[in-house]
Amino acid sequence: MEEQCPCGSGKTYDSCCGVFHNDITKVKTAEQLMRSRYTAFCKANGDYLILSQHSSMIQPTMKYDLVRWAMSVKFMKLEIVDVQDGSEKDETGEVEFNAFYMERFQSRCLHERSRFVKENGHWVYLDAIKD
Ligand SMILES: [Zn+2]
Repeated sequence: MEEQCPCGSGKTYDSCCGVFHNDITKVKTAEQLMRSRYTAFCKANGDYLILSQHSSMIQPTMKYDLVRWAMSVKFMKLEIVDVQDGSEKDETGEVEFNAFYMERFQSRCLHERSRFVKENGHWVYLDAIKD
């Protein structure tokens, strides 16, 4: 049986976020980038998490820290709450989401409204909007 994509699209990993993990320039929208980053967290894919992050935000130990965190939790589900702009023709976009995961046997939810921009011709994650 083919692996379902962790982002919850209903497609297989290979036909969904797997495509983007192989070639980030295939990402068309901010929501797709957000979903592909969630799936990269599920798979502790540090290279993609760095590649999909705006260069101005990358810290020296970021890849290590992200991978270590991703491997210490179990991701359960992604829920997209709201999307603003971020279409193929846009240069900026916002995606609000809930990411459910288990950490030390406790159920947790990361709620974030993220900003996305285009850098080097493809979508990247910029930062989280503070409440
Ligand atoms: Zn996916």
